[in-house]
Amino acid sequence: MITIFNKYLKSYNMKKISFLFLFFFIVNCSRSGDQSEQVINNVQIDESIIETRDWGEFIDYREGNIPLMIISVHGGDKEPEWIQTRTCDGAVTVRDSYTRDVALEIESQLKINGYSPFIVLNDLNRKKLDLNRSLNNSNCGDLTTKPYWDLFHKQINDFKSQIQLEFGSGLVIDIHGHGHENQRIELGYLLSASELRMDNNSINDINDSSVKSLINNNPEDLKLTDILSGEFSLGNLLSLKGYPSVPSMNDLAPKEGELYFSGGYNTAIYGSRDSGKVDAIQIELNMMGVRNNEENRKLFSKEFADVLISYLRTFYKSDI
Ligand SMILES: [Zn+2]
Repeated sequence: MITIFNKYLKSYNMKKISFLFLFFFIVNCSRSGDQSEQVINNVQIDESIIETRDWGEFIDYREGNIPLMIISVHGGDKEPEWIQTRTCDGAVTVRDSYTRDVALEIESQLKINGYSPFIVLNDLNRKKLDLNRSLNNSNCGDLTTKPYWDLFHKQINDFKSQIQLEFGSGLVIDIHGHGHENQRIELGYLLSASELRMDNNSINDINDSSVKSLINNNPEDLKLTDILSGEFSLGNLLSLKGYPSVPSMNDLAPKEGELYFSGGYNTAIYGSRDSGKVDAIQIELNMMGVRNNEENRKLFSKEFADVLISYLRTFYKSDI
């Protein structure tokens, strides 16, 4: 054993060895924490990239002047060769087409009226990193992107703290795009489709939505069902603009067998489920009439910007 260790020392310095131990430790932790995660062997880690890389080319972030943060993580298209492509079991690599463009367009439309949302956008392709996952589930074992995952999520955390400090409460929207057959916007509040199908009393007993703070702190004493599908719900406001959404007043819940995204890692972490007064909603955009050409993207972004201002006025800051 000692001979083997000495041989090892000749080809690797101690720093690299400790890094390898750290790597195997993290991989093993992720394996025990999540059975669906696969361990990738023989991953080459280039320390010089990890230590010196400037990740600024992949992230877009700007401070805002309203209690709204727009994040987009699956619309990036940069695929540098020096990051391994994610191929482990369970890794979803499909890009949410045009969602980064839509996020930027919503920002432009808001700015026309003097409103600047807080912005954190990713331009690294999902094939390389999934920023809507925990660190352990984001990279298929290639730790090259760890500093970027840290940087990206620190930026969201910093802005979230700033929103809470400056405005008392606020909203994060995480913009995605789905490929489901039903052409409607899916709004995720961390309630599953079967939970959304329950009766009102049962839904209102749920205490772990991503808008928990809003339920506990709204002047009208609105219930969760009001926020999900009432007159002033985001789904209803979007539907009235001609963008069918679920949940909403006319579409309370996905039917049994219909595909629906209820909200992922970012909605869970950056909403108010666990603490704080900043809520989060995952926005899953359908393709037809919303993302499928530039004209539709522009029109949707303009209408959605109007909806967001109205929503903020109702629930977060009446005087904007
Ligand atoms: Zn997505």
